[in-house]
Amino acid sequence: MISNLMRPKVNGSSAIRRMFEEGKKLAAVYGPENVYDFSLGNPNVPAPEELRDAMIDILKTEDPLKLHGYMSNAGFDETRQAIADDLNHRYGTVYSAANIVMTAGAGSAMNITMRSILEPGDEVIVFAPYFLEYNNYLSNYGAVPVVIAPHPESGFMPDVQEMCAKITPKTKAVIINNPNNPTGAVYPAEVISQLADALKSKQEELGTVIYIISDEPYRELVYGDAKVPHIPDFYNNTLICYSYSKSLSLPGERIGYVLVPPQSDGWEEFVLSLSTANRMLGIVNAPSLQQLAIARCTGLRSNVAFYERNGADLYEGLTAMGFSCVKPDGAFYLWVKSPIDDDAAFCDELKNERVLSTPGSAFMGPGYFRLSYCVSHETVVNSMPSFKKVAARYFG
Ligand code: PLP
Repeated sequence: MISNLMRPKVNGSSAIRRMFEEGKKLAAVYGPENVYDFSLGNPNVPAPEELRDAMIDILKTEDPLKLHGYMSNAGFDETRQAIADDLNHRYGTVYSAANIVMTAGAGSAMNITMRSILEPGDEVIVFAPYFLEYNNYLSNYGAVPVVIAPHPESGFMPDVQEMCAKITPKTKAVIINNPNNPTGAVYPAEVISQLADALKSKQEELGTVIYIISDEPYRELVYGDAKVPHIPDFYNNTLICYSYSKSLSLPGERIGYVLVPPQSDGWEEFVLSLSTANRMLGIVNAPSLQQLAIARCTGLRSNVAFYERNGADLYEGLTAMGFSCVKPDGAFYLWVKSPIDDDAAFCDELKNERVLSTPGSAFMGPGYFRLSYCVSHETVVNSMPSFKKVAARYFG
């Protein structure tokens, strides 16, 4: 029998996954080309050819005892150094292999980070709407989310004032996700700077350490002039949880890292703690083939123009029909205001027209819905008549 702690998690399992499963059923009835599935954030751009070539070459040429063996829980030194070199090149920093711990994607990066800092009853600030999996990660360690209300007037920027009002001696961290899932917003340097200054004052006032956990799987997916600030430039106690799931289209491969900057509180012990947590949580180490491939390919980028075009066409199409949408600056999500308060009911209406979306409530953002546009451009174009049909009921 499963535990009483686990049962509610199983029963309340992800709305995003549920919609994805519904999509598979609809596709079986109507044919996949007639179902417009904007539910899951599964990249539609294939992983770069050079990366796949690197994996094949590594399989053919690498010593199998190294390739398939155990290693340090923090990962291969060469991979950690290659990542540090790439970050130094981009941000003018002085990181080394010692600042990086390889993980199985952002999910495990966040889990080993939280394992390292949280005690039961601790509080972690999150800005709604947010990736609800954070609640599961926090409950793994008996910690609780403290939710800051959405701020639509500012384009869903974090509300620094409310954050300050809700910080207590139990606040261990603030989670930032930039570019953002589900809103597609990118927080600019001014916003990060304000938030960092406020946290510095709070740390001083309370005499505590408050970390920023910066969840950055979408860091390279930005459009136009938008820039993602490197948060350690603004705030010492920053831990970056990175993933190649979206930036190199590798979600099934489970590869990412935590960056612990040398200016953060007790960083050397922290790196040891992350390595230990990798072992304690049974991850042991990040997948070795992926680590060796990443070591050769840190400069590769996904086809951002593909997502940008999908985002722009969806935004323009829906706005012209009367929907109110946040113009995405990054990631691959469109955040749309539901014409009725009940966002789940509205998503059902869309589903009846074979459009799959996720209700905003699944991100603590009721009254909105999310379209994940990491789909073929055809899906975007062919979905328009379905959106139009529903829009006509509300916007005439
Ligand atoms: N954080 C956010 C905001 C995400 O959207 C996702 C995945 O969709 C993750 C973390 C988890 O990423 P990973 O597949 O690297 O564990």
